[in-house]
Amino acid sequence: MKTPFHQTTIALVYDFDGTLSPKAMQEYTILPELGEDPVAFWHECTEEAHRLKADPMLTYMRLLIEKMAKAGGRITQQRLGELAAGIPYFPGVSIWFEHINHYVHTQSNGRVQIKHYIISAGLKDILDGITIRHHFANMFGSEYYFCATDGLPKFPTIVVNDTTKTQYLFRINKGHEDVREPINDVMPYAERPIPFSNIVYIGDGSTDVPCMSVARRNGGYAVAVHKDTQTHAACEALLADDRIDYLAKADYSPGTELDHRVRLIIDRIIADIFFKEEHFIQKHPQQHSHTTPCQ
Ligand SMILES: [Mg+2]
Repeated sequence: MKTPFHQTTIALVYDFDGTLSPKAMQEYTILPELGEDPVAFWHECTEEAHRLKADPMLTYMRLLIEKMAKAGGRITQQRLGELAAGIPYFPGVSIWFEHINHYVHTQSNGRVQIKHYIISAGLKDILDGITIRHHFANMFGSEYYFCATDGLPKFPTIVVNDTTKTQYLFRINKGHEDVREPINDVMPYAERPIPFSNIVYIGDGSTDVPCMSVARRNGGYAVAVHKDTQTHAACEALLADDRIDYLAKADYSPGTELDHRVRLIIDRIIADIFFKEEHFIQKHPQQHSHTTPCQ
């Protein structure tokens, strides 16, 4: 059965570490709580993964399990969420979401919706406690199985890394955001709730390349943000290699370069949605008695 045109939602999908917040989330939360020096911890993870020829993400998650066990059950799943209250954000992040939501509403006369998502290789248990949580339709991250008896993490239940991140773009695209739902079943493009052409991925560097590529190759957009000379150079390289549409300083305040460039993309997506909607109406006139002209 034919349905009215429904692909009127824009998704802004963010990496977290280095994109919304300056450092890795563990450096503001679990590592200080454990008394671990971040530089020493990440070095230990790298050395251990190298020594064992192991997956870096699984290695870091195992080392955290061991260190949390040594802390004697002091750091529970609930405590991880509480620690997230101390995470700082880049300038403007606290007002960014309402600012962009208002912009989309105004530019589209209320005919286009926007949703924000986080896909992070960091810990979902930390993300659940972030102060900006209420702005997101959903968040995806690595997760532990916590033992009900001693409250300690025993094993990962979900591991998100650079490449598995892309799975969640397809989950957003197909509307199958629950990981229990199959993701590989065929779904015609016209039935997907948020087509890739309505998706903007915002990240900060090489770990975001798989998501940036998946977004752009499927008709979506990618933006890279930077915080210093080194990350600026990394973003310039992504631009030179045609892996992003725009780069900008990680300042989410109204009127910044980032604000301007994201709004340019949003303008284009809104125009694209109206264009496709008009085409749909022409093909299915019985579905629409009358619509207001596109602006
Ligand atoms: Mg990052």
